[in-house]
Amino acid sequence: MIETGSCLCGAVSYSFQRNKVISGHHCHCKDCQKATGSGKATILVLAKKNLTIKGEPKFYESVGTDGMHINRGFCEKCGSGVISFAKELDRIVFIKAGTLDDSSWVTIDSNYFTDSSHDWNKPDSSIKSFNQNPNLIENIKTVLKSFI
Ligand SMILES: [Zn+2]
Ligand SMILES: [Zn+2]
Repeated sequence: MIETGSCLCGAVSYSFQRNKVISGHHCHCKDCQKATGSGKATILVLAKKNLTIKGEPKFYESVGTDGMHINRGFCEKCGSGVISFAKELDRIVFIKAGTLDDSSWVTIDSNYFTDSSHDWNKPDSSIKSFNQNPNLIENIKTVLKSFI
């Protein structure tokens, strides 16, 4: 099953196989709130090699609370945030779930940084929550061993 998505204007688009998605997360960190202009970012985790991108997203780098260098990619033309990655984990990419053409199949595994969530955008209490970043590097390294 091939999934596709794009920024609002379509200049940046991507595709991947649905069964290659490692996990899905709501991130309530302050930086994601600023970057999305919303209460949280909803991301899907994929190995970089399993994602095909068309177009040239621009990247803005900032240092997260855990010291990782997060590069958030957006379309230069329309400004939509589409893809991001951590410099320290460059085999992994994060796709913003809202940019999918069809996201009806998406499932979310956990909430990150619920300490900074807002009452107007409360964490989904039916899934696992982490106050901060749940040791993302270690978790992903473990997951990756089965993919790379
Ligand atoms: Zn665009
Ligand atoms: Zn975040």
